[in-house]
Amino acid sequence: ASPYEEVMEVTIVGAGLVGCLLACFLARRGHRVILYERRDDPRERGADRGRSINLAVSARGIDALRRLGLDREVLGEAIAMPGRMMHAPDGTLTFQPYSADRGHAIHSIGRADLNRRLLDAATALPGVEVRFGHRLTGLDPRTGDLEFDSGATTVRARVVIGADGARSAVRATLQALPGTDFSQEYLDYGYKELSIPARDGAFAMEPGALHIWPRGRSMMIALPNPDRSFTCTLFWPHDQLAALDDPRRISAHFAEHYADACDLMPDLVPAYQANPVGHLVTVRCSPWHVTTAAMTVGLVGDAAHAIVPFYGQGANCGFQDCVELDRCLDETGDDFPRALELFERRKADTDVIARLALDNFVEMRDKVGSRLFLAGKRAEHALERLLPGRYVSQYELVSFTTTPYAEIERRVARRRRLVAAAGAAVLAMGVTAGLARAARRR
Ligand code: FAD
Repeated sequence: ASPYEEVMEVTIVGAGLVGCLLACFLARRGHRVILYERRDDPRERGADRGRSINLAVSARGIDALRRLGLDREVLGEAIAMPGRMMHAPDGTLTFQPYSADRGHAIHSIGRADLNRRLLDAATALPGVEVRFGHRLTGLDPRTGDLEFDSGATTVRARVVIGADGARSAVRATLQALPGTDFSQEYLDYGYKELSIPARDGAFAMEPGALHIWPRGRSMMIALPNPDRSFTCTLFWPHDQLAALDDPRRISAHFAEHYADACDLMPDLVPAYQANPVGHLVTVRCSPWHVTTAAMTVGLVGDAAHAIVPFYGQGANCGFQDCVELDRCLDETGDDFPRALELFERRKADTDVIARLALDNFVEMRDKVGSRLFLAGKRAEHALERLLPGRYVSQYELVSFTTTPYAEIERRVARRRRLVAAAGAAVLAMGVTAGLARAARRR
């Protein structure tokens, strides 16, 4: 039974990762939730079961799952990655732990499996219904009417939350309203997914790591799957991806730049030719909600703030959105218009992780291979062990805590100022001592 006065019927558009998790949070509060999803039920035989790609889930995602009692089940299927394994062009491997605390790891999870589990969790709750095969095609905030392409269905709703991803149809409605700021920024890089299958039933590389081939202008990463394969993602400028257009060139390029991986990819050429190129976009939109006399519409997850994947935070951030919206509902007594207004405070955080994710691309494709970078990381971990709780790296704060992203940025900036001031003081002391010595000599 709901602890609140009014049980709302909430319509969520998109039964992806964030839509399903939000449905669980809302159902737990006693609300009735209807999810509209354009795809067919991925749990049914014959349905599009999604690509076998994976993602890294870390502290924010795990915290959200834990609040719903889903963490053990999800992590049970995941593979812990306590660090990065760098592959140099000559095949040399270097393992770099993510944290000074060897117990900390990010977790590789099959995206389609996670979605199916979250669908199971949501539909097991009373009051949750998923209507598959319903693609939202129109939303009229003046009337509260939603239109779907499935047999020209129209429904009327009072509270609609768009969890329909980076190309959100719900967001398109908000964008059309006066007063809404919107931008989308595509990287000139695309990505292509490839695979390293199991070898004789075993992982062909060390499974306890996120593998990286940093190559300056390009980069490939590989995450382990429970079936002992790896999903590789090659990031490269679009024109370069397209220029690799015949089998000979594909084989030659991989043999030159990714020799050790190439040996483990028997299907490299057909996979490269068949797999589509994905786009990488940062979406910014403000506000994320609108309330009219007829309805309230809000956005969560990628629909509100799609980011590039280089910090492994998109889904984690979307899951944290659900925790934050749940908190806003607590603070407003489940008054959805006010809760969605309060939820706008999260934009300060999502703007920061959007920036950090873009910055991390440079780090991953360029810097992680350098000795200087690795020495810096070792020094950082030594400092963390020396000053526990007082010196905490940015990566640690982002991936292994739930500290708000904006607070992390403030903390790191403060520390940089302190280090710069200390450096300047040391320099000044050196100059003063030098001048004093020179004066004595004269
Ligand atoms: P989505 O997952 O896009 O789900 C949206 C849902 O809405 C889908 O089910 C879709 O079918 C449905 N839908 C869309 N339009 C409509 C419509 N008009 N009507 C009805 N339904 C609709 N994040 C991490 O945390 N860690 C990682 O390691 C990571 N790696 C990534 C690697 C790559 C290459 C990419 C591209 C992303 C990665 N991400 C990662 C980001 C992560 O995938 C997204 O942030 C996450 O999937 C967002 O979830 P969502 O539910 O908001 O949107």
